[in-house]
Amino acid sequence: MEPNRLPTPPVEKSLSVAVDIRIHALGRKRHMHELSLMENVLEIAFEKAREQNAEKIHVIKMRAGVLSGAVPEALDFAFESLAPGTPAEGARLEIERPGVRCYCTQCRREYDASPYDYVCPTCGGLEMEIRGGTELELVSLEVS
Ligand SMILES: [Zn+2]
Repeated sequence: MEPNRLPTPPVEKSLSVAVDIRIHALGRKRHMHELSLMENVLEIAFEKAREQNAEKIHVIKMRAGVLSGAVPEALDFAFESLAPGTPAEGARLEIERPGVRCYCTQCRREYDASPYDYVCPTCGGLEMEIRGGTELELVSLEVS
């Protein structure tokens, strides 16, 4: 043993892992919601990193639509409290926030809607399918 010799750091080779996994909400209790979600996200991220023989997670990209029930600030906060001491410590969390996207079944058009007003702007129709805004998923990871 040479006590003064530092271990050689591994070569940093960053690779991106496309993930695309829907996250299952574990609990619906306010405040605890994002914490259990983030636990779930990190669990998946660690598993993906292991599959790549990676030791470190650098970037976590997520999508949390405005109708997903998850608040980005609360996800950030949950991440900051869960990441220390894990391979995701110091990683950057990027959260995309898709808005509400509707499809009018009457005039067959897609449109962006506010979370408070889904009425079709073209025909005033009230029958629509929600096609976006409910996304809650882990999109990709950068690991090394
Ligand atoms: Zn319409």
